[in-house]
Amino acid sequence: MIDIADLNKGLFIGGEWRTGSATFTTVDPSKGRALTELAAATAADVDATVHAATDALLGDWGALPPSRKGLLLNRLADLVERDVERLAALESLDMGRPVGMGIAMMVPNLVATLRYYAGWADKINGELVANDGYLGGPAPTHAYTRRDPIGVVAMIVPWNAPLMILGWKLAPALACGNTVIVKPSEDASLSILRLAELIEEAGFPAGTVNILTGEGKVTGEALSLHPRIRKISFTGSTEVGRSILQNSAVNFKRTALELGGKAPQIIFDDANVAAAVQGAAMGVFFNQGEVCAAGTRILVHRSVFQDVLDGLRGAADAQVVGDPFEEGTTMGPLVNERQRDRVVSYMRQGADEGAQVVAGGSAVDRPGFFVQPTVLAGTNDMTVAREEIFGPVGLVVPFDSDDEAVHLANDNQYGLSATVWTSDVSRAHSISARIDAGAIGVNGWSPLAPQLPWGGVKASGVGRELGYEGILSYTETKTVTIVL
Ligand code: NAD
Repeated sequence: MIDIADLNKGLFIGGEWRTGSATFTTVDPSKGRALTELAAATAADVDATVHAATDALLGDWGALPPSRKGLLLNRLADLVERDVERLAALESLDMGRPVGMGIAMMVPNLVATLRYYAGWADKINGELVANDGYLGGPAPTHAYTRRDPIGVVAMIVPWNAPLMILGWKLAPALACGNTVIVKPSEDASLSILRLAELIEEAGFPAGTVNILTGEGKVTGEALSLHPRIRKISFTGSTEVGRSILQNSAVNFKRTALELGGKAPQIIFDDANVAAAVQGAAMGVFFNQGEVCAAGTRILVHRSVFQDVLDGLRGAADAQVVGDPFEEGTTMGPLVNERQRDRVVSYMRQGADEGAQVVAGGSAVDRPGFFVQPTVLAGTNDMTVAREEIFGPVGLVVPFDSDDEAVHLANDNQYGLSATVWTSDVSRAHSISARIDAGAIGVNGWSPLAPQLPWGGVKASGVGRELGYEGILSYTETKTVTIVL
């Protein structure tokens, strides 16, 4: 039994816990019943938080030397590592993922990201810039660039991997000297509320990181409209991303948008089919399919089509759908009732549009929001091939040539990631170059390591997180010239 009573402390503003004027209910997806009430931040709370974050920026946090900032990030990494099991359990309770996955992957990813950017904190340099001198005249001009913090940055995160995704924003933003306001998803706030306690324990100056739980339409919208928030980093649906981009025009906020996906997994005739099937199944079923990079369009060369279909049917049958805290469970429930109904309606629509149901195809008849691991076979023009489902539903589509595979892969509004399965090195490089996506994995998934940039093209978003790109995206370049 996980004790969550101590997480219901309110809003974390300026280093204090404040009671909100409103609340919302969060639900246990495994049981389908209420978990707890949490504070819901209003527009006035957002405004008070921007004040606190600005004070920290101009005060204690802004004055802290870069190496001390790195030290605090490393201290936070140590505390997260100490509490890995509790943090993973809170996420599983809130959003349904088998707890072992959070312990092995999601929480350690946050630790790795904090440590990676801790190392950057005192290595953020400008450049000395050669130039033509003052107005082209004889006086030489000494010119250099600085990389300054952007200011107060808002971070809006989804429920599918709250801590891991927050880490991709929080760690570089702090390493670069910004102050931060975080809004977790109303479907999974608990692990981030616990992180707030660890931020206090690590000793970050008050107001450096502020956490506002609340509804997207109220708290999230107030953040995107606030004139003194200088950047908003959002991970979530394409639809909400579009409204954030529009709202950000109010003060020309910097925006980073990590949005939806409909990733192709291309299996060529020269692939190791057993490895490809295993990888493809993971791409569909991992985290209940609630993954932006889920490889839900499995494009297969016709000569190995039946083998892949049989392999995926076996992989679906081998999934153990159940309680995220039970040993052996590989797929927990979907996050909420709305998501369960949405995924089931896509399964039905696939069958109605003529897809062959190879495995699964419906909800699981038990309390909570469980669905069957599902494999469909069909064509790239079906609704299930066009739209992001965000559940464990894969569509298998045959192709006959490399050109057709590339055409099918790119024939979609999204462009987040793709996977290519082949044993031909030339094909691996040439196909990777032709696919319109932010990340391509060959013979395996993109590892989501802090060193590697991540982000999408087309409707999958704007900007890149992680790696050195993370540093560039949380700093402003300022040019300074001195006429000598
Ligand atoms: P969502 O867009 O519904 O919500 C995301 C966050 O935005 C939540 O915190 C929510 O409260 C907030 N929000 C909702 N309406 C808002 C508004 N009008 N203004 C401001 N904020 C608002 O997405 P979700 O259902 O939580 O997450 C699933 C989506 O996230 C999927 O589309 C998935 O592909 C995407 N995602 C993308 C990545 C990536 O790296 N590209 C990673 C994970 C998830």
